Amino acid sequence: DAAINRIAAGEVVERPASAVKELVENALDAGARRIEVAIANGGKTLIRVTDDGCGIAGTDLPLALSRHATSKIDGSDLLDIHTFGFRGEALPSLGAVGRLNITSRVAGQDAASISVEGGKMSPVKPAALSGGTIVELRDLFYATPARLKFMRSDRAESQAIGDVIKRLAMAEPFVGFTLRDVSNGGEGRVSFRADAETGDLFDALHGRLARIIGTEFAENALRIDTSREGLHLTGYAALPTYSRGSSVAQYLFVNGRPVKDKLLVGALRAAYFDFLSRDRHPAAALFIECDPHLVDVNVHPAKSEVRFRDPGMARGLIVSGLRHALAEAGH
Ligand code: ADP
Ligand code: MG
Repeated sequence: DAAINRIAAGEVVERPASAVKELVENALDAGARRIEVAIANGGKTLIRVTDDGCGIAGTDLPLALSRHATSKIDGSDLLDIHTFGFRGEALPSLGAVGRLNITSRVAGQDAASISVEGGKMSPVKPAALSGGTIVELRDLFYATPARLKFMRSDRAESQAIGDVIKRLAMAEPFVGFTLRDVSNGGEGRVSFRADAETGDLFDALHGRLARIIGTEFAENALRIDTSREGLHLTGYAALPTYSRGSSVAQYLFVNGRPVKDKLLVGALRAAYFDFLSRDRHPAAALFIECDPHLVDVNVHPAKSEVRFRDPGMARGLIVSGLRHALAEAGH
């Protein structure tokens, strides 16, 4: 079973950033309003995610670490997925590839903790915590030297973690995020911070855009809010003059999940075709919302692709929505 877990783990956890993604998504699913991530050595020696969400009851801790145990779906409709997690694979996978410790407290109960190492679970122990959950993952891939070799420099892995956190932070502007590097001990160095935004969704998103992409972009971005046959597109897109030499400032989401989908990136490019040369990329944060039955997000756990039932419609929505906004802005 430990071997099976380790094989499955490779699917979910390719590098420190994929572990961070799973843990932060769990915190979001738990309704956290504040999420703190601490890393050391690019996440290779330590990833610690602290949240103020609903917590896990002591009696449920062993279950949370069991394969295919999820509290988020009853199995009746795999397509009807509203939360990030739905496979019950992340925690057992992390317990198979690193030294995992979870400390958690549900309001009104005592705090408890559990550890897993090499797929072996410790008994649940009493712990001290005022609320929420702390998940600590140490020495990722220590038992899998072949995978260790594929990890990049601390700097590159830290950057990938920052990128994952920024994408999730863009999708959840009402949640506060902090990323610290504690490689040198102590409180560490804050490398990203976005306090919880307030106001309506557009206000909040605008604040997040300013924080993540930059105030100049936010102040000159076009507001997008359009619908077409059950697909809704909202967010902000740059005026052509605020384009970039790379696509890193393109944030795309489908039903709240960050995606890096070729179809959607291509549609974004097509919308700006008349205004940008091939080496320029428009900055944008765009959210597609639709009935979960119109899109399959269950393509691969670690990748962020989606499959629309009607790809042409998704493309058309983006191209026409953005062209319309650009035309209104005088382009
Ligand atoms: P999934 O997210 O697919 O359900 P995971 O392995 O990521 O599977 O997590 C297993 C279960 O552990 C979750 O269904 C949830 O009940 C619980 N859990 C994990 N992380 C947290 C957290 N930060 N706060 C509260 N519950 C959590
Ligand atoms: Mg999960």
